[in-house]
Amino acid sequence: MPLPAGSPGAAATYETDVLVVGGGIAGLSAAVEARQHGADVILIEKAPREHRGGNTRFADAQMRFPHEADAYGPRDYTADDMFDDLMRISRGRANRDLVRTLCDNARAAAEWLTALGLEWEAGYPHTAGYRRSPKAGGQGLVDLLYRRLEGLGGIVSYETAAVDLLLASGGGIAGVRARGPEGLIDLHARGGTILACGGFQASVEMRVRYLGRFSDALILRGSRYNTGEGLMMAIAAGAQPAGQWGDYHSAVLDARSPRIECGVTALYNYQMGIFVNREGRRFLDEGEDFRDHTYVRFSKHIVEQAGGQAWCIFDQKAFQREEFARAWRPVGPPLQSDTLEGLARQMDVPAENFLETVAAFNAAVQPGDYDLDRLDGKRTLGIYPPKSNWALPIDTPPYLAIPVTGGITFTFGGLKCDTSARVIDTRGQPLPGLYAAGEPMGEFFYDNYPGATSVIRGCVFGRIAGAHAASRARGG
Ligand SMILES: Cc1cc2nc3c(=O)[nH]c(=O)nc-3n(C[C@H](O)[C@H](O)[C@H](O)COP(=O)(O)OP(=O)(O)OC[C@H]3O[C@@H](n4cnc5c(N)ncnc54)[C@H](O)[C@@H]3O)c2cc1C
Repeated sequence: MPLPAGSPGAAATYETDVLVVGGGIAGLSAAVEARQHGADVILIEKAPREHRGGNTRFADAQMRFPHEADAYGPRDYTADDMFDDLMRISRGRANRDLVRTLCDNARAAAEWLTALGLEWEAGYPHTAGYRRSPKAGGQGLVDLLYRRLEGLGGIVSYETAAVDLLLASGGGIAGVRARGPEGLIDLHARGGTILACGGFQASVEMRVRYLGRFSDALILRGSRYNTGEGLMMAIAAGAQPAGQWGDYHSAVLDARSPRIECGVTALYNYQMGIFVNREGRRFLDEGEDFRDHTYVRFSKHIVEQAGGQAWCIFDQKAFQREEFARAWRPVGPPLQSDTLEGLARQMDVPAENFLETVAAFNAAVQPGDYDLDRLDGKRTLGIYPPKSNWALPIDTPPYLAIPVTGGITFTFGGLKCDTSARVIDTRGQPLPGLYAAGEPMGEFFYDNYPGATSVIRGCVFGRIAGAHAASRARGG
C-alpha cells in the first residue's frame, strides 16, 4: 500500500515499532521476524511491486548451512566446517565474531524458512554437498516471504525510497525520510530502523569511486535499485565504514548477457575446459580448486585481460557430460568448429597462438582418474599456468568456444556491525536505533567469496536485527 504524503512543504509522519528499508531476503527476514515478535512493522521498498525482491529475486538463492551427511553430501558439514571455510576463503580477514554468528545460526535460519513453507531442491553435486536451493529459486523465496509478511499484518510500501536518516535528539537514529509515489514521508521507528537496502553495485558513479575506472563497464547481474544510498546516509550519520570497499562479488558470465539485471547467466563448467584470452593464450589455472572457491576471482582475471573478455574452450568429452549442461544456462549457442583453426577464425584470435596453446596443454596432461566430485589431481606438468585438477586433452571435435567476461553482483564494502546487527559508529559504539542486514554489512568477504553465503547471511542477520529491534520497541 502507498503511504500518503503530507501537505505541500511538510512530510507526513508515520510511527511504527520496526522500520525496514529494502525488501530482499534480509529485509523480509527482518520484517517477518519482527512481526513474529509482535512488533508493528513497516517495510519500504524502492522498487515497484513487480520489481520487488532486490538481488535476491535474480538468484538461484543457494544457501550453505550446516547439515548431516545425506545422499548429496557424503559427510556431515558442521558449523565449525563452515566457519573454517569462510575464514580460509577470506584469508583470515573476515570478522570472526560475525562469521561465527552466521555459521551458528545458518541451520536455524534454513529451518525457519522451511517452517514458513519454503520447499528445497535436493542437493547439488560437485560442490562438496553443502548447499541447498529453494525449488522456486530467489523469486519464489521472496514471493513466499512477502506473502507471509502481509499475512502477519506487516505493511509494505512500494516505490518508497529512503533518502535520509532522521536523527534522534539523544544521538541515535529515529527513522528515515523517504520519497514515495505521492511525495516525502517521515517514518519514525520506536525499536529501530533496519538498513537492508543492498550494496552500491548499481551505481556506476560509486563503482568508479570505490572500485576503479574499469568498473563502469561491468555487467550488473542483479537489481538496478541497489545504488548505495543506504550506506551513504548511515556514514553521514556517523556509522563506521568496514570491510573491503575496493572489491566486489562477481561471476564468470557469458559475455553476451544483457548489461543489467541479467540474472543467472554464469558459466560454472569452466573447470571442464580451458580459458584463452584474445591473444589465444591461457592465463590462469582453471582447475585450481572447486568452482565455488574460484569463480569470483577468475571473473576478475578475465576482466583484466585485453578487451575485458576471454573464451572458454571445450571439446565433446566435456560437452557430452551431463554436468556440462547443468552448470551452464546458455545465453546463445557456443561457437563450434570441427577444427581448432576454424574455431580460432571464428573467435578472431591468432590461430598460431591458439594452436600452440592447445598443443602445449594437451601434451602436458598427466594420466589419472578424472573425477569432478573431488580435487582429482589429474593435472598438467611442465606448462604455466598449470591446470591442477580435471585436466583432459582438448582433442575431440567439434570444438566449442563461449565468450566470457566478469560482471558485478554485489559490493563487499559496508558498515561496521556487531553480532546483534547493530551499526557501530566511528567511535566504536552502537548507533542507537540503527541496524544493518545483508549486503550493507561489511567484514564478511575479502578478495574472494565462499559460494552460497550471501542469501543465508541476509536471512540470519535480518532475523537477528528484526528480533533485536522488536525487543527494543518493547523497552528491552
Ligand atoms: C544472478 C545472481 C545470482 C546469485 N546467486 C546467489 C546464490 O545462489 N546464493 C547466494 O547466497 N547469493 C547469490 N547471489 C547474491 C545474493 O542474491 C544477494 O547478495 C542477496 O540476495 C542480497 O540480499 P539483500 O536482502 O541484502 O539485498 P537485495 O535482495 O538486493 O534487497 C535489497 C532491496 O533494497 C531495496 N532498496 C535499495 N535502496 C533502497 C532505498 N533507498 N529505499 C528503500 N529500498 C531500497 C532494493 O530495491 C532491494 O529490493 C546472487 C545474486 C545474483 C544477482
